[in-house]
Amino acid sequence: MEHVVPERLGQPPSSTGPGQEIYALAERLFPICRSITGDGVRGTLDILSEQIDLARHEVPTGTRLFDWTVPQEWNIRSASIIGPDGRKIVDFAQSNLHVVNYSIGFKGVLTLDELRPHIHTLPEQPQLIPYRTSYYAPTWGFCMAHDRLADMPDGLYQVEIDAEHRDGSLTYGEYLHRGETEREFLLSAHICHPSLANDNCSGLALLATLARILKTRKTRYSYRFLFAPGTIGALAWLSRNEDRLHLIDHGLVLSCVGDAGPPAYKRSRRGDAAIDRAMAHVLRREAGARLIDFSPYGYDERQYCSPGFNLPVGMFQRSVHGTFPQYHTSADNLDFIRPEHLEDSLRILMHVIDIVENDWTPLNLFPKGEPQLGRRGLYAALGGQKSSGISSMSLLWVLNLADGQHSLLAMAERSGLPFGELAAAARLLSDHGLLAEAAFEHRSR
Ligand code: ZN
Repeated sequence: MEHVVPERLGQPPSSTGPGQEIYALAERLFPICRSITGDGVRGTLDILSEQIDLARHEVPTGTRLFDWTVPQEWNIRSASIIGPDGRKIVDFAQSNLHVVNYSIGFKGVLTLDELRPHIHTLPEQPQLIPYRTSYYAPTWGFCMAHDRLADMPDGLYQVEIDAEHRDGSLTYGEYLHRGETEREFLLSAHICHPSLANDNCSGLALLATLARILKTRKTRYSYRFLFAPGTIGALAWLSRNEDRLHLIDHGLVLSCVGDAGPPAYKRSRRGDAAIDRAMAHVLRREAGARLIDFSPYGYDERQYCSPGFNLPVGMFQRSVHGTFPQYHTSADNLDFIRPEHLEDSLRILMHVIDIVENDWTPLNLFPKGEPQLGRRGLYAALGGQKSSGISSMSLLWVLNLADGQHSLLAMAERSGLPFGELAAAARLLSDHGLLAEAAFEHRSR
């Protein structure tokens, strides 16, 4: 494969304020009541489709997906609890977290004791509404602030959940940015959570914006964006694309990318995939950043990294899911995410894309001794003067490690120098006829 130098992707356009744009998009997605199926997912894809030309897939109820089956479609119109005095205590219209996601419909008059087992609260965070789901066990329920429940007097409560399950389909969206090769970078975010801003309106909005930015650029890799309901949506995509999974060289699951926490990366199951190494290289220079080993708990990396696939897919997030007090509560709202954090997450993604796009394995054509750089006008750089960000050390490291066994990323790992500096040095040395591309395909490895 011929080596092409793709356009550099290092910086998102700053004049358009990508952080503000991502935030504004997350703000529009926030109010929608999403679930693993139903019109909330479709409405969300409608909004994302304004950014990119999304392909929409509908997978019928009952379709087998490995060990799973596509469930019935869920739609909800309203839900409320009316107290003994006739006042509405809980109203789905005020927060879609108030109803257990995927709850069956219900209508009845109950005593407080009868109602209580169907109410979920957070006694430790008494003012917050929890987020609860019941996808695969039919039940009905409400979620509310513990303080409100404590204030509810004995008496009769009118309870109604106007929701239905019916045969329909599971919906997911997909967008492919075609690069110069068929090799793919998979980017995936779950689309099944209702009004939770960080988890995962932030991930959906960030990926849609990244896709729109990439649309205008020439890349070496093809970038596949997947907006699918957690678990069952990823399984649907995997089952329909099993014959092309070998094309995936890199992948990231995105979630919780808009809060103030430092960036965190969870390695793929492989642990030493190029994406693991590239993310480690990027995060090494980020204050407070964390690298976490793979574990079979989390988001859709669980499916992508199941042993039958073992794809090179890691997870990028800021505050780690399950560890921050706002997680899966009504406090994961639009105040919890900020444009500057979304923009910072975008910058990190662009940086890692820049690395996989520009990685290659050079071969020193003058490996016996050091080549004479002065004769080629490269001596000034060696004298300590930096020209276009290229230090003497980066020239020396590239020449020394260009034995055909080290990619630029491997050189960055070994030298401790930034990837971008080594890539620029390799380009300069290549322009002066000192490097060739090693004979094997130069995909990052
Ligand atoms: Zn979640």
